[in-house]
Formats: sequence, C-alpha cells, structure tokens
Amino acid sequence: MDVAASPDHILIMAVGSCEQHGPHLPLGTDTLIAESLCERACDLRNDLVMGPTISLGSSGEHQDFPGTLSIGTEALAALLTEVVRSARRSFQGVVFVSGHGGNASALATTEKLARHEGDALCCFSPSIEGGDAHAGRSETSLLLWLWPEGVGEFEGITGQVAPLSEIMESLREHGVKSVSDNGVLGDPRGASRKEGEALFATLTSQLLTTIEKRFDQ
Ligand SMILES: [Zn+2]
Repeated sequence: MDVAASPDHILIMAVGSCEQHGPHLPLGTDTLIAESLCERACDLRNDLVMGPTISLGSSGEHQDFPGTLSIGTEALAALLTEVVRSARRSFQGVVFVSGHGGNASALATTEKLARHEGDALCCFSPSIEGGDAHAGRSETSLLLWLWPEGVGEFEGITGQVAPLSEIMESLREHGVKSVSDNGVLGDPRGASRKEGEALFATLTSQLLTTIEKRFDQ
C-alpha cells in the first residue's frame, strides 16, 4: 500500500472468499472479482488507496466441498470492524468491496457498528440483474475477462438452476451440496469474455456511484 498521509484519502479493500466454485472456476473467484473492482476504482479516483485484500470470508455453506476455507460471520465481522477502527487514524473513510454473498451478514454488522462509532464506511456487494447465484454464467464470464487462464472447461457443466428462493431453505440448513452436486448454482454455458467485460464495466460504475453517494455529497 502506497500512502501519502492525507486525511482526504479513502481506504478501499476487497473482501473475498476461499470457496468452491464448481469444477471450472478457482477457489479465489470472489476474491479476484472484488480485488479487480478495487483496482479499477483506484484507477478512476485518485483519493482511493487500496489496502490488503481479505481473502477469507464466511463460506460455511460450501464446506462440504474440498478446498473451502471459511472463517465464519462472527470472525469476519470482528476483523472488518477492527480494520475500520484502525483506519480511522489515517483515512477519512473505508470502502469494503465484497465478492461473496455469504459475507453480507458480517458486512451488515460492521456497518451498524461503524455508524454507532461515527466512522464513514461504505460496503459494496456486486449484484448482477438476472445473474445466477454461484459459479454460473455471470461469474464464469467475469473470470474469462479477468483471468481466462484460471477457467477450466465449462460447456458441459450444468448446475442447479431453480430460483434461489426455492432452494434457500435447504441451502441454509444443509449447505450447497444438498442442492447442487457439483457446487454450481446457475448455468455457466454460454459464458464469454465479451459478456464478462460488459459485466465488469457495469459493476465498476455501480461501485463508483456507491462511493460518490457516500463520500462526495
Ligand atoms: Zn462467487
């Protein structure tokens, strides 16, 4: 991290996960997406300073698949809260960019505490309209754009395509394996680098709007 001490700077950090992303995507998919968005935002706003990436998240629901490493909601919330407290001395505020939906509850707890303690915190979680939930077409396209070498053969892979609302109960109680044998929630077929490029541009502009709303007004 390269910081010229200035209280006008905003700290931006990626919060990812280390969890299965089907047979074709790397464990660090969420981390890579979040990190790339932070880097892009730093290119576009010179008051942002990128901090170290948090590459473990709350991924208990993926624990039945090998390679998944989760620190759980409580530990993640405690970690993020201490980062916000510590950043107070050097930055005017903090932006967390989370690449993993399962981190939402830890982010909400952190936001609540930050508000209470008077810290300027803004959390951004990419959401893709009409996108699939996990390791499907959206994430596969994004990875094809960001790191094509990291993407395995996916055209023969199908995941669980039922709407999330229908499978949520089983997913919460018994984990992803109970609803999808290969860990994919969605359908990666048809994913493309071009689609990934467009998605990434959309997410970047959503992130910038979120930051503007929080810090420029
Ligand atoms: Zn993911």
